[in-house]
Amino acid sequence: MDGQQFRAAAHSAIEDIVNYFDSVPDRRVLPAVDPGYLRPLIPENPPTDGETWETIQQDVDTKIKPGLTHWQSPNFMAYYPASVTYPSILGEMYSATFTAPAFNWLCSPACTEMETIVMDWVAKALGLPECFLSTSENLGGGVIQNSASDAIATMLVAARERRVREMVLAEGLQEGSMEYEERKMDLQPRLVAIASDQTHSSAAKGALIAGTRFRTVPTRLDENMEMTGARLREVLEKCEKDGLMPYHLTMTFGTTNTCSVDRFAEIKAVLQEKPAWQRIWVHVDAAYAGAALVADEWQYIAKDFAEGVDSFNMNMHKWLLVNFDASVLFVRNRLDLTNALDITPTYLRNPYSDMGTVIDYRNWSISLGRRFRALKIWFVMRSYGLNGMKAHIRRTIELGNTFADLIRGRSDLFEIVTKPAFALTVFRIKGSKPANGHVNGHSDGQSTGGSAVRKDDAADLVTRQVSEVINSRGEIFITSTVIDGIYVIRVVSANP
Ligand code: PLP
Repeated sequence: MDGQQFRAAAHSAIEDIVNYFDSVPDRRVLPAVDPGYLRPLIPENPPTDGETWETIQQDVDTKIKPGLTHWQSPNFMAYYPASVTYPSILGEMYSATFTAPAFNWLCSPACTEMETIVMDWVAKALGLPECFLSTSENLGGGVIQNSASDAIATMLVAARERRVREMVLAEGLQEGSMEYEERKMDLQPRLVAIASDQTHSSAAKGALIAGTRFRTVPTRLDENMEMTGARLREVLEKCEKDGLMPYHLTMTFGTTNTCSVDRFAEIKAVLQEKPAWQRIWVHVDAAYAGAALVADEWQYIAKDFAEGVDSFNMNMHKWLLVNFDASVLFVRNRLDLTNALDITPTYLRNPYSDMGTVIDYRNWSISLGRRFRALKIWFVMRSYGLNGMKAHIRRTIELGNTFADLIRGRSDLFEIVTKPAFALTVFRIKGSKPANGHVNGHSDGQSTGGSAVRKDDAADLVTRQVSEVINSRGEIFITSTVIDGIYVIRVVSANP
């Protein structure tokens, strides 16, 4: 394809993309295909001779679109959204055009410098404390990661290295010596990462990748599934009794199941109780709900991160108008990251890096090469402005509140299970009405504490049936889950 052909193909592709977005509301959200639908439609072997763009584009229509789940549909209310906007798509086009795996500053100075600047913009837009800015005295800063899972795993590795290093150096061993390495390896098996039982599974996976243990803090429905200080203290004490060393804690701002917010102030107070607990790396996972911080009325939450929080991540690609992947990670001290991840063979050296005056993002993440993702964030922030971003957050939260009110208005049929939050409503169908014409609701006496909602087999059954019927029709897509033993439906209205 030459430039002339590209121009024609790109015009045609853009027409198709705009038409796709225009038609999305009228499409079924879930595709009507069975597993394996695609293989018979695609030739077994790649073509020997090149094909025209017309032929390729036709196949997008006939073979790809029928198998898509339409995440951009207004009827997509499952999981959390994966937003995309036109300015973000333009950013992707330029990013592909300027392709450069910009691992060192020298590999493409604009990629690195734009990332640093845009991360400062994002930190300011979210009202994060000054300590997370690249210009802070404490050497904070932000980096774009592929996903929240990458960000969290990277933080666990950095936390492990920081903790073990501190201990081994305190014993007077020389960094780089055989004794140093041996002692590090002796200590590592005693490290344990902690998170609540509502924390996203990426924390457990991160601990696995970091090669450490993982323990969870139980949550309860009568505490709105939030991690509390008291329950954290019990787990920390138990770990110590078992001879383990807690080294990393994930606090969640907006859990995956119910969008609950852990009790940051209580948790931080508990961590102050013992010197060993003060050394725990505290990470805030705000993958979804962190987007709400662009709106002034939520920024009081971020004030809590000024002290006692080492790192913070949120996904702009969930609720903040930038398409996947745009997971932003902020650290209080970049040296914690680079000490853990900087491995510099000769072929990666250059005078700028050697002088230490530039950022080489390869030392801030697991991958070496990286895409120019800052462009799409820059385009979106400039196109929407802070006011446009706030308006999007407020409008979608308002939609969520409207939905929650509709559910409350039919209390004969529905029960809200956790506090509606950030455009997410978690509810169930009441079990007191016959389900399938013969099942009557009953409580099995398994109380969920002070909450009005109790375990009820009939409610579980009918809620699951309703959820399955809705998704099998494919017009609306919702997610169901189980919290504190109760089957629930989650509906989220945060799609732009
Ligand atoms: N953390 C939370 C709270 C989430 O809800 C999710 C995904 O929904 C993740 C982490 C993982 O996100 P990613 O897909 O970016 O790894």
